[in-house]
Amino acid sequence: MTSEISQMSLEQLVAAIRTCTRCGLHSGRTRAVPGEGPPDATIMFIGEGPGFHEDRQGRPFVGSAGKYLEELLASIGLKREQVYITNVVKCRPPGNRDPLPDELAACKPYLDRQIELIAPKVIVTLGRYSMARYFPGQSISRIHGQARQVGGVIVVAMLHPAAALHQPQWKATIEADFKKLPAIIAQAERLQPTEPPPSPQQLSLF
Ligand code: SF4
Repeated sequence: MTSEISQMSLEQLVAAIRTCTRCGLHSGRTRAVPGEGPPDATIMFIGEGPGFHEDRQGRPFVGSAGKYLEELLASIGLKREQVYITNVVKCRPPGNRDPLPDELAACKPYLDRQIELIAPKVIVTLGRYSMARYFPGQSISRIHGQARQVGGVIVVAMLHPAAALHQPQWKATIEADFKKLPAIIAQAERLQPTEPPPSPQQLSLF
């Protein structure tokens, strides 16, 4: 099945995710949440998993964290329709608990294929679980706002908007981190896929 996923189109991925039973999260979901946005989006946001409202509507980031994400996007002149938004797991963990390692592993091929097909120039990880794909062993409270080049993509680690809503001391932090995005996007658009990764000194400019 994993090799089948790696051959799917975006439409086929959405259909497969909607009926997926690869992990136990399928049994508690109302609707799976594949993700949404332009198929050629320059920027992809990757959160953790659907919450209550997302599970009901089958769409990512439609609750209060989604509203806040839209405000953050507006603060840098972007609309949500311009970016692709998805999660590391596509079905709601019960009671919004953290996704388990076997659930993350089962759902990973879908995200891998989404990234391959959309081929964004910038990936923004929202929260710990999507950060771990690109910044293994790191702590989000230490590296939020930092970027690194992975192949031809610049990956930026950000706090999850829900964390900023629940802990107001993080609000100014995520808002300041978002303000770095336009410069990062401009840099990413100049990158050639074959360009060697920039030195750590260059990355620290972000
Ligand atoms: Fe399938 Fe992912 Fe949903 Fe698990 S979380 S059932 S792997 S779509």
